[in-house]
Amino acid sequence: MSETTPERALEQSAYALDLEMSLILPSSAPALWSPAVHEAACLLGEQTWKPSRQAPVDLLSLSLLLFARTYTGDRAPRDVSIAELRKALAGPSDREPEIIDEIAGALAETVRRPDFSDEGSPLWDLFNSVRNRYGPSMWADDVEPPRPGPSPMRASAARLAKFLADYPEQFREQSTAPQVVPGPLIIEANRIQLVSRNSIMALHCLFRDSDILTLRVDGPRVTGECSRGHTSSFERIDAAHVRVAVARVTGARPSAQGRHVIPELLIARDGLARHSDPMTSNVLLRAGNQPFVGRDDVFEQINRVIDGRD
Ligand SMILES: [Zn+2]
Repeated sequence: MSETTPERALEQSAYALDLEMSLILPSSAPALWSPAVHEAACLLGEQTWKPSRQAPVDLLSLSLLLFARTYTGDRAPRDVSIAELRKALAGPSDREPEIIDEIAGALAETVRRPDFSDEGSPLWDLFNSVRNRYGPSMWADDVEPPRPGPSPMRASAARLAKFLADYPEQFREQSTAPQVVPGPLIIEANRIQLVSRNSIMALHCLFRDSDILTLRVDGPRVTGECSRGHTSSFERIDAAHVRVAVARVTGARPSAQGRHVIPELLIARDGLARHSDPMTSNVLLRAGNQPFVGRDDVFEQINRVIDGRD
């Protein structure tokens, strides 16, 4: 039997179903959102969950569909039959699925629509991420407007329809999902740093007046607070990377919520996988030199490390 090291266990939990659930469970969501996510997780199966690029999209799409069918509170997500789900997901795969309009209607009735005055709702952000037909960026260099392509939800509806076609209704009684409490995860640390392969950077307040010492992960969003009380939003920091970084220090599962006080948080980013250990993937930390934070010093240390390799 193969031995499971703490590092291997962390790698597995970095892509596990409970972490993917925590990323779509913001604390601000309506009360009936969490039961929809848990039922979607049950259907996809705690035991049969296979991490892949598509798996989180399918979890989100199925959660949104179950929410759209149960947000009025007339019935529980488990009361939505497999046959009903199959019917909702059936449809020609050469056009956008009809459930998109249905989900938009359900969200419009339960969650305030985002506007330009604030950051809007993470649930709308999540929905927009799967119905977006323009890829990661809406802006093209050309004068011509970009042409819409298929949304991630179109392929996801087809995959879910195929999956549910073989799903026996009686399986449902035995199916379980991890129980994940909606966010937030709050971290207080003396030092919070972003680590790529060859750089280490302290996380600054957007007003550049001090370092971020409190980080908050709530669903898909990462925000920080500096010592002067400014709140900064970090759209380019992946919530999953922060969660795994915290798990590495605390030993808790990456899906855990609550408040943690730790000496230092090193967040892997810029192409490093979620489970990367900054201590071995960063050239400076690997060399055993705990560098000072500062541009000149970091470059000097990189040079020293490179020289030392000869
Ligand atoms: Zn500040």
